[in-house]
Amino acid sequence: MSDLSICMNKERMTVDKKRIINNDRTVDCNQLVPIKYRFAWNYYLDGCANHWMPTEVSMQRDIEQWKDPKGFTDDERYVIKRVLGFFATAESLVGNNLVLAVYRCVDNPEARQYLLRQAFEEAIHIHAFQYIVQSLSLDEGEMFNMYREVETIFNKDQYAMSCTNSVLDPNLDTHTKQGLQTLLKNMVGLYVITEGIFFYGGFVTMLSFGRQNRIPGTCEQIQYILRDESIHMNFGIDLINTIREENPNVWDKNFEVEIIEFIKNAVELEHKYCQDLLKGGILGLNPALLKEYVQYIADRRFKRLGLPEQYHSENPFPWMSEAIDLKKEKNFFETRVTEYQTGGALEW
Ligand code: MN
Ligand code: FE
Repeated sequence: MSDLSICMNKERMTVDKKRIINNDRTVDCNQLVPIKYRFAWNYYLDGCANHWMPTEVSMQRDIEQWKDPKGFTDDERYVIKRVLGFFATAESLVGNNLVLAVYRCVDNPEARQYLLRQAFEEAIHIHAFQYIVQSLSLDEGEMFNMYREVETIFNKDQYAMSCTNSVLDPNLDTHTKQGLQTLLKNMVGLYVITEGIFFYGGFVTMLSFGRQNRIPGTCEQIQYILRDESIHMNFGIDLINTIREENPNVWDKNFEVEIIEFIKNAVELEHKYCQDLLKGGILGLNPALLKEYVQYIADRRFKRLGLPEQYHSENPFPWMSEAIDLKKEKNFFETRVTEYQTGGALEW
């Protein structure tokens, strides 16, 4: 755990002393420079370049469409509310986990620089759902309590947060193998499962409305969130992989099996959520297609973690891929950021 006390020391810090976690007293956790973990600094710069604010996106057309009794079927209204209800509190769960659990344990300054940026982005995402709920005059009580009242949402949140309490324990010692495994599993729950799997049923569903030019302001914000989340997840996986590299003993065969099962059960929970969400089907989407898609993205996460792919599913939504592949996505959004600054609308 990091120590904030400063002591007089005339020996200057060098890059080779830095570690991603568990730095000893010879390392000053207030010195960003010299930078060792370039990935964290680069994600920080990417995040800043993508800055956006919810209130700069017009909700006028969304409000008109939502008020129009013929604007949406009952099934469509149900789906939109369910997705917004999931996101409304999921972003807070992520933000709290980040600040109270991950930030406390990860004491490298470059990683913390990105974590500070990410924490603000989570605040922006929380703001976005507050703004959408308010603009559409949705029932705030219904939306913000959904994670306690809807079983399939509760099960996802509960599952992803299952390791967080043990990280919050002040006695957690990340110098021990077991302590570090607890932290790593929480990071998988946060970055891989919540941000990398549980958000995607909602992303696909909402962006399917956007592709038909429906609730365009909501979908524009969801697309900015998707772009941010993609960086969050990639940072998280790089962080996990760096901890592994520096602590090769922590990731043994048993732990690997545990992590694979942890992620596979999450895919099942997302499938159950999508079944409950889409019922028979809507907008050409159905639970079977969503399952295939979630399996496809889960395999991408396994690959990034150096784990064997489990499903070998095809991507049923190739239109989503340009928004997911970080590299393409960056080019895709480079033009967007300019348009955004001049107030242009998102082209679908
Ligand atoms: Mn977020
Ligand atoms: Fe996030």
